[in-house]
Amino acid sequence: MSIIGIDLGTTNSLVAVWEEGQAKIIPNILNKNLTPSVISVDENNEILVGDVAKERQITHPEYTIANFKRFMGADRKFKLGTYTFTPEELSSFILKRLKEDAESYLGEEVIEAVISVPAYFNDAQRKATKRAGELAGLKVERLISEPTAAAIAYGLHQEDDETQFLVFDLGGGTFDISILELFEGVMEVKSIAGDNFLCGEDFNKVLVEYFIETNKLNLKELDNKEVSALYKQAELCKRELSVKDNAAMILRVDEKTFEIALDRIKFEKLAADLIMRLRHPVERALRDADIHASEIEAVILIGGSTRMPLVRNVVSKMFNKLPYSNINPDESVALGACIQGALKERSSDLKELILTDVSPYTLGVEVANRIEGQKYEAGYFLPIIERNSPVPISKVEQLSTISDNQTKIAIKVYQGESRRVENNIFLGELGIVVPKDKAGMQGVALRYTYDINGLLEVEATILSTERKETLIIEKSPGAMTNEEIKERMLALKDIKIHPRDKTENTLILARGERLYEEALGEKREYIAGLLSEFERILSTQDLRLIEKKAKLISKKFDELETYY
Ligand code: ADP
Ligand code: MG
Repeated sequence: MSIIGIDLGTTNSLVAVWEEGQAKIIPNILNKNLTPSVISVDENNEILVGDVAKERQITHPEYTIANFKRFMGADRKFKLGTYTFTPEELSSFILKRLKEDAESYLGEEVIEAVISVPAYFNDAQRKATKRAGELAGLKVERLISEPTAAAIAYGLHQEDDETQFLVFDLGGGTFDISILELFEGVMEVKSIAGDNFLCGEDFNKVLVEYFIETNKLNLKELDNKEVSALYKQAELCKRELSVKDNAAMILRVDEKTFEIALDRIKFEKLAADLIMRLRHPVERALRDADIHASEIEAVILIGGSTRMPLVRNVVSKMFNKLPYSNINPDESVALGACIQGALKERSSDLKELILTDVSPYTLGVEVANRIEGQKYEAGYFLPIIERNSPVPISKVEQLSTISDNQTKIAIKVYQGESRRVENNIFLGELGIVVPKDKAGMQGVALRYTYDINGLLEVEATILSTERKETLIIEKSPGAMTNEEIKERMLALKDIKIHPRDKTENTLILARGERLYEEALGEKREYIAGLLSEFERILSTQDLRLIEKKAKLISKKFDELETYY
């Protein structure tokens, strides 16, 4: 039985499988490699996944959800029609669909999967991802960090020498930089940095602003549908500029047509600020890993937005070398995840490797700092395991009593980057009892051990008595007990997911409705005509005729899309 590799992305998700000695992306029923990470619910309370759901973002915004990956592991619920879902439940619908796609492609049941997560995902986020897999009926063999998966896709794990490389990931939701090191067959994430507020969508925004300004329009005076149509135009224009020198945007408002035309040079000028912002996380990651740009052997581009030539150019300039980009930037993570699955099965032609990750935040303890003389002030953060430390890691710090006859020490464990604990996240507390003594005479060795699964063990040893107290922190907000998981699984079982084999026809209807709402006048009538014709054909239940018509109408919709 095959182990599949899954890239569960913010914008798009993919599934890959190891076949005949190589990794291959499995297309979905629409024959597309990318399945949008969007969920919607229809009139029959059925869950819609992927492209169909994406079409409904405009026509049924209150019944459609995207970008939920940002909230994985957080105590957050989403209302969707009559349902309420957690981010991992929404993710489980995507995973379930990918599992079906894989099963249909392979002609057998698929149970095991390797799922990728961002390198900076913490314990709670990783656990939530694993749980999403379980809810989808998958056994999650392991999670793999996205940059590591991309490096594996490029075969970097097979290099003999010690290598350091950088993964530059500009996707639809975030911008992430990771520096990895391969040393004696061990792949290590040395540092991570990023900008959570910089992504592909920002480039669309720049184009929209330019369009509005050039045509002297006011964004506030456009209705929701016009605004989303304009953003769709920006997306098309941006993609066009990735392959051509010139592109245009068109919008019709109240029977009036507005347009702009621009070339790559103009786009680069408009996006200059964004391009500047791409530099900071790269610099920070290099600094944290304590290496110079020239020591980076390879730069790997991943994420759909690295298809933009202006992004490629700036990366080439930063490193003085051409980045790796011969694998489709939105496909390498899924490919790498599936290779990792194959490695696990010890498929002969690949070297085994051990993967390590980094702790995404600094983990420390609250201490009191001496202000003057015997005066102390509590509330300070003493870092023990620093952010970006490769895991597993174990570190010890020594604490001591601060007043005479003190018998209790409260070990308060925090996560965060601030000097003051009040700005960090409280994880747990360990109360220990020490023998009465003079101030500073009783010491405690505090050992923090952070493992590859994101589990933090805090062990306090009272030096004079050698007594040990341990605290294991796996508690995460929103975490469920096994009982609760079982209960939710039962509840999810009753929820109908729109059948996979109806996807293509449902997509035509959803897309037609969206185009209808965006269009006006004659174009509207034309779309309405196509839609009723298709509905009529559907009711004949003549499969061959339906298929033929579906192709024809899809093509007509494609034309409408470009000449909005
Ligand atoms: P994520 O990792 O967030 O799921 P992807 O790697 O699939 O995202 O990237 C999606 C982003 O890539 C979107 O913002 C999309 O606009 C952008 N994108 C995809 N193709 C192109 C292209 N040819 N030119 C420019 N941007 C693109
Ligand atoms: Mg991605």
